[in-house]
Amino acid sequence: MADLLLENIYKVYEGGVRAVSDFNLKIADKEFVVFVGPSGCGKSTTLRMIAGLEEITSGSLFIGGSKMNDVEPKDRNIAMVFQNYALYPHMTVFQNMAFGLKLRKVNSKEIEKRVKNAAEILGITDLLARKPKALSGGQRQRVALGRAIVREPNVFLLDEPLSNLDAKLRVQMRAEITKLHKRLATTFIYVTHDQTEAMTMGDRIVVMKDGFIQQVDSPATLYEQPRNVFVATFLGSPQMNIFEAVLEDKNGLGVSFGDGHSAIFSATKAKQLSDKQYIGQKVLFGIRPENIKLASSGIKAKVDVVEHLGSETIIYAEVAGLSSNIIVKIPTDYDIVEGRELFLSFDMEKSHLFDADTNQSIMGVPDVNRVPCKIEGDDLVLNGTSVTLPAALREKFFDFTLRDLSEIRIPATEVRLEPAPDCIHIKAKVDFTVQGNDCIAFYVNSDAKDGYFVFRIKTSYFDKKREELGKSVVPTTGDEIDLYVPFSDVTFHGADGLRLNSREKISDNTADCLVKNKKGKTYIKVGKNTLVYDDLGVSDGEYTMKLISDKIGFVYDKKYAKKNKVEYVPADNAVTAKAYDEDKLGDKLAVFAAVSGFHNYVTAVLPADFSVYKMPVFKLVFGKESFELIKK
Ligand code: ADP
Repeated sequence: MADLLLENIYKVYEGGVRAVSDFNLKIADKEFVVFVGPSGCGKSTTLRMIAGLEEITSGSLFIGGSKMNDVEPKDRNIAMVFQNYALYPHMTVFQNMAFGLKLRKVNSKEIEKRVKNAAEILGITDLLARKPKALSGGQRQRVALGRAIVREPNVFLLDEPLSNLDAKLRVQMRAEITKLHKRLATTFIYVTHDQTEAMTMGDRIVVMKDGFIQQVDSPATLYEQPRNVFVATFLGSPQMNIFEAVLEDKNGLGVSFGDGHSAIFSATKAKQLSDKQYIGQKVLFGIRPENIKLASSGIKAKVDVVEHLGSETIIYAEVAGLSSNIIVKIPTDYDIVEGRELFLSFDMEKSHLFDADTNQSIMGVPDVNRVPCKIEGDDLVLNGTSVTLPAALREKFFDFTLRDLSEIRIPATEVRLEPAPDCIHIKAKVDFTVQGNDCIAFYVNSDAKDGYFVFRIKTSYFDKKREELGKSVVPTTGDEIDLYVPFSDVTFHGADGLRLNSREKISDNTADCLVKNKKGKTYIKVGKNTLVYDDLGVSDGEYTMKLISDKIGFVYDKKYAKKNKVEYVPADNAVTAKAYDEDKLGDKLAVFAAVSGFHNYVTAVLPADFSVYKMPVFKLVFGKESFELIKK
């Protein structure tokens, strides 16, 4: 199994360049995921952290369920293919492919078998005896892929592998890599700045900008439902038209723009507006060139530039009152010439609206449902409606995080129609559905949320069900349905938007201890440590010590303080803690660490500027306010 989990991954290079921020992603076994974004957005850095070629500043990387942060690159069972494939010029193709295995002391019979097998997959069997200089660019790139294949890795990482090839070869190799992925049935992560490569190759695309993930989804959904202006304009060529407009509700919801132009949404589309407060406000209106048609009346435009591309015609047209041209893509029409006046009509069903300040989408299928919530006793209260709180979910909260809880976020893609273990159960009624290219979005009403609760389900799920059951199970308008949300996929947040639930189970923080009073002092022996306090007023005997997570003090370990050049300040009752993970909760940092005597690991809440990745060993200070003693 080679599923990957990247949790809260950050990369800060020396000198303070923040290359990657809060990167969270689950990659399924055998999935083909593409990282795409402009140069410098952090794609390669993320890939190199997965490979182990770059240290992870903070956050956790799991491959096949095992934590990999500190595992050597060679032990990660990963193969990487670079843009610069650097074959050894003095070696034959066979020797180039065999070299890595030889270094690993694989026996020669096995090497031969693997190289021949890889050569066959790649169609380069005839080239095995040649040297690289006698190969074309495409053939060299195939050898580079072969070098990775012979290692039989669990994960393939490909960093712009095609960018040195000419355009025609790129298209061909694109298809070959897609086929290779199917044939090898292995997890692929592919980095590119080329949106066409991303759109044509990936099962899912991760769009990045300035070190942050912008959106993760299937190519079709990203294209149809971009979350913000960046994603909307990055994918698609020519790019989506975006211009300022005012949202109005006169003869139905619509936009007005330029010198008195307007366009009206359908009633179904109008219902998808996220917030009525946008009516009367300035918004950004988006429409793709292929969703604009020539018409006999409508929006008057004048052709500024025209490109006849053979299979299609691209028109750059002036519209009175708009500061930039509108781009229109239509089937080939040689009658369109510069200077000609024409009328445009928009396919409003396929249009987009964005907040003018935040650039976030405000109409269309949201990717997350944000529902006010609190936890009362054993209940999770969503918008005033109680649903049972799964016991295992409770273990992900500290007392202090429970106090601050204000919102649950339920991703639109993580809602199920069938019961599963550890789910939050919500009852709902379908109002309407929106059919996408590879999924259906459901707009449902539920007591658990004001306004619509929205979720998306893959069309392939319903296809499979129909095959199994011999009938369609797609819920339609008016249907009462049960929804199940696995709590592993939801997050809980405070009023400031910061996440409050821990990813790890929070420990009960208990240890057996022995209390002895002597000469006005109380001595507590817990594990290897003896703590000393002024008389605590407890009698001698055996107790359970229970730490209070957010009342534990903290100082640096002497050795690590020196190594990290920070001041070492000694403290009384400081015990050694060895960390194995951390998790940012709200504005604080939860640290999970082993402490002598404690049954399980200890969870402590520490200053947010601290990171266990720099200081895996530190001291927890047990002041008298840090714990309770419970008599055995
Ligand atoms: P991409 O692959 O998306 O082009 P990178 O991951 O290579 O982007 O780089 C992300 C950011 O990190 C950029 O601002 C880049 O300049 C910076 N960066 C990359 N490598 C280093 C390094 N070794 N030291 C300092 N900064 C770096």
